[in-house]
Amino acid sequence: MTDTLPNLIAGEWQLGGGDGTVLSDPVTGEALVRVSSQGLDLDHAFDHARGPARMALLELGYAQRAALLGEVAKVLQSHRDDYYEIALRNSGTVRADSAVDIEGAIFTLSAYARSGTSLDGDAVLATGQALPDGAVDSLSRDASFGVRHLLTPTPGVALFINAFNFPAWGLWEKAAPALLSGVPVIVKPATGTAWLTQRMVADVVAAGVLPRGALSIVCGSAEGLLDRIEAFDVVSFTGSAQTATRLRTHPAFVVRGARLNVEADSLNSAILAADVKADDSACAQFVAEIVREMTVKSGQKCTAIRRAFVPAPLLAPVADALRAALAGVRCGDPRDTSVTMGSLVSRAQWQAAHEGLEMLAGETERLVDGRRAALIGIDPERAACMAPSLLLCPDPEQARRVHDLEVFGPVATLAPYEVGSASAATDRASSLARLPEARAVAYARRGGGSLVASVYGSDETRLAHLAAALASTHGRVHVVSPSVAKTQTGHGNVMPQAMHGGPGRAGGGEELGGLRALNFYHRRSAVQGPAATLAALAVAPEPLR
Ligand code: NAP
Repeated sequence: MTDTLPNLIAGEWQLGGGDGTVLSDPVTGEALVRVSSQGLDLDHAFDHARGPARMALLELGYAQRAALLGEVAKVLQSHRDDYYEIALRNSGTVRADSAVDIEGAIFTLSAYARSGTSLDGDAVLATGQALPDGAVDSLSRDASFGVRHLLTPTPGVALFINAFNFPAWGLWEKAAPALLSGVPVIVKPATGTAWLTQRMVADVVAAGVLPRGALSIVCGSAEGLLDRIEAFDVVSFTGSAQTATRLRTHPAFVVRGARLNVEADSLNSAILAADVKADDSACAQFVAEIVREMTVKSGQKCTAIRRAFVPAPLLAPVADALRAALAGVRCGDPRDTSVTMGSLVSRAQWQAAHEGLEMLAGETERLVDGRRAALIGIDPERAACMAPSLLLCPDPEQARRVHDLEVFGPVATLAPYEVGSASAATDRASSLARLPEARAVAYARRGGGSLVASVYGSDETRLAHLAAALASTHGRVHVVSPSVAKTQTGHGNVMPQAMHGGPGRAGGGEELGGLRALNFYHRRSAVQGPAATLAALAVAPEPLR
């Protein structure tokens, strides 16, 4: 019999009813733990979070809440080994890949703990519970009457519905700005990997760091959660575009008007600049980054490079270099220390990734065929291990699926682009059309809006033009040149200082970006009034609630 993980509701641990869902080891198939959210008192969970838990958070100021985040990070640090063990067993990841999630979570919390301390003194409006948004603007000739904008924490709860691939970071990158804002959190992790999220919440709650009920967790089905969402609550969803489409039409958003942030799938690109030669170090950086993005977490990263565009004359040498580098990847049981890339998260994901490869077959050929690679220490009938496959799309102009289908695994497509001005299909009149990489930019845009595109070259001024051309359709543009070989943070790594999210198909959401993340958890209001009132907003001595 496997243990059932309790849910944390209104500060109390509760077991869900029914059979629940059993979480398993994606390499061995071993049953690990069971989760269920059936029969939980969700009304009580939301009422408690919006009421006493929120008030307890607001009793503290921004800087004090920032200090709490620092304490949370310390608690997580002290239990690291447990988290690596859970990630190994439930996500099938090698240690370095588990670190992306676990250390990424701690790093992000620590970053908000640091930057949150700046929200003190003049940075906070008089009530202690609002942030200024710009200065006072006069609305009268004699300046007696004016307007000041302020940001106040939304008087509701933040619900996170998360994806399976980042059970640690996915919680804390959102919880850090929410809690810093004074907004309580209810998290529903993806069922398949809920164990790590649940353990982290359990450790933080056991340490007594946060006010009771400020952090709740529901493991298992999301049923009933959105029905409880009210006008001032906020919901952050990370997952597939398909589920996002269903969520967007829920009455919580279309009737009650709650705020929804969506982070969905993305056909991210990497572009090698047109002036790069095969033996330039920028070319080597491009190759190394594609390999890294295909293999870190077995390609199960929303930011991973899915499409790589090279100037047509460089297609052959780049393909050779990628083939050689991918030959060094050892895929299999992450318990084997010679293994460099572990498993996909489940056999269902393994199946979906293989089906995705088949769907791309009409437009691509296999440069590296993962089906032929040896898998180390696993039962191929049972394990969700999948070696990397590199595809070649010879005609990205005509291709459709390559720009539309996200294979969520160790799969990327290499495609050549003709150097020179763009086709009539792109905006001929703009400076984009004059870029030598115009066709590559046009291909990147066919992803319909992506989280990130990276560009590689040695002429840093030229790269600025390329970055500007990509910006309007990408949430982040990552520029790599030989001068930053040792300092660049990686195409797929999401840094807390940089915005994460993307337009269009990527969901249209925005997360992180330093203190910009607090916007989602605050409401912007304009206060119009006498100059003295507007001044008092900034200087009133006593906290007003
Ligand atoms: P998913 O199937 O859409 O599930 C995401 C979350 O939604 C899970 O917690 C799931 O719960 C929940 N869910 C499913 N149906 C629901 C419904 N009808 N109402 C409310 N919640 C519902 O996505 P996934 O397979 O876990 O994640 C992989 C996808 O996420 C990839 O496409 C990837 O690109 C994307 N992703 C994006 C980002 C980003 O930041 N943009 C980050 C990571 C992943 P259950 O698990 O219980 O079904």
